[in-house]
Amino acid sequence: MCGVFGAFSSNHFVAEEVYLGLSALQHRGQESAGVAWIDSGGRVNAIKGMGLLHEALSQGVLAETPAKAAIGHVRYSTAGGSMIQNAQPICANYAQGPVAVVHNGNLTNFNDLRSTLESRGAIFQSTSDTEAILQLLAHQPRRRPFEALLRALAEVRGAYSLVVLIEEGLVAARDPWGFRPLALGRKGDDYYVASESCAFNLLGASFVRDVEPGEVLLINESGMTSYRLPVKCERKWVCSFEFVYFARPDSVIEGRSVYRVRQEMGRKLAKNCPAAGADFVASFPDSGTTAALGFAAESGMPFEAAVVRNRYVGRTFIQPTQKVRELGVRIKLSPSPELFRGRNAVLVDDSLVRGTTAGLVVSMIRECKALSVHLRISSPPVQYPCFYGIDTPSNGELAAAKHSQAEIARSIGADSLCYLSKDEMVEAIGLPDNSLCTACFDGKYVSAHDAECSSSHACREIFD
Ligand code: SF4
Repeated sequence: MCGVFGAFSSNHFVAEEVYLGLSALQHRGQESAGVAWIDSGGRVNAIKGMGLLHEALSQGVLAETPAKAAIGHVRYSTAGGSMIQNAQPICANYAQGPVAVVHNGNLTNFNDLRSTLESRGAIFQSTSDTEAILQLLAHQPRRRPFEALLRALAEVRGAYSLVVLIEEGLVAARDPWGFRPLALGRKGDDYYVASESCAFNLLGASFVRDVEPGEVLLINESGMTSYRLPVKCERKWVCSFEFVYFARPDSVIEGRSVYRVRQEMGRKLAKNCPAAGADFVASFPDSGTTAALGFAAESGMPFEAAVVRNRYVGRTFIQPTQKVRELGVRIKLSPSPELFRGRNAVLVDDSLVRGTTAGLVVSMIRECKALSVHLRISSPPVQYPCFYGIDTPSNGELAAAKHSQAEIARSIGADSLCYLSKDEMVEAIGLPDNSLCTACFDGKYVSAHDAECSSSHACREIFD
């Protein structure tokens, strides 16, 4: 999971706005950050660093950077390790000019692409799958970058929400399946693209719409032009986990408020998994809080902010190792003994992936002498890995892939455990079942047939 942002203005410099936009997307990646622009000499420039945005980049330097178009990235690694070589934007000055790319998603045919490109002489500088897109461009040295990019996108499979900077303008592209979100914003004649619409609020820009699956936008002095990858997919595969956990609650995806969806998930959970006799509802802050509010409203129980979060450490789910994750929970979450002592609690979280955080928090609540702790999860059991840009690479790490619900409740130390069903989750999201990806819950991945759609004949005919 990563955050991407791009800005174009015909009358003012935008590098600092990219920095500010990235600050609203920090929840999507905390390992590295970077911003790129094309200078007056026609060369691509970038500054990148490891860590949080303010550690990695200097806002002051970006405020002084004379660029009317710029792109940026906050990274959490899913393909390639956590190292500065893999920090984005990935940039090059090649035969056809400067190019910089930022990517959210995961290319499922990266290994094949890399082997093919290396056999043609490509030298990869990083282990990031995003570099394959740049290499595909460079291997079409006589084509203008925008056309070369469209052709490159016909070769890649999997999930990509991309923002690209070339001399022809700022480009935003979303894969034909629509796995990862990508939003278009506008303020007067200035255009913005971002992983989530929440990034526009800070800049006073309006959210215009989602970039459509298979759509490529070219934004420059002439305005914005929309192109379609000549691809016919049978259906969309919008990531349901964005609604469950990844996206910020003040974002809107596919016309659905993430806040309202999470609240509805909590309401449905309260209807179908009530915890009779409990005294109050608490949450794992912040990810479970919106669903917990829905649970409390539906059940009539009071909501108490009984687990306090230290806001100055990152989210446990996006820490790269198990050891750091386990240490991180005690640093980050602290149940209040005053609120739990002698009382029966319902504890709501958005998801249960490895079960590590839930187990540690429930044991801390037991230390507070709670009478009972009933764990409620506002999504279905995560049983399958994600191949589209989320760090759940193997079944071995997923609690629900190995253990029954009763075993998980026992190992976590909860008095009861109950999940939202997949159908309830889909109803709460409010989009048609056949437009959502739910693969990590039900194992239904993009079919081989649909995965082939981007190499269709029609695609090649239009380009040729
Ligand atoms: S497998 Fe899960 S996390 Fe991955 S894209 Fe599908 S719904 Fe999202």
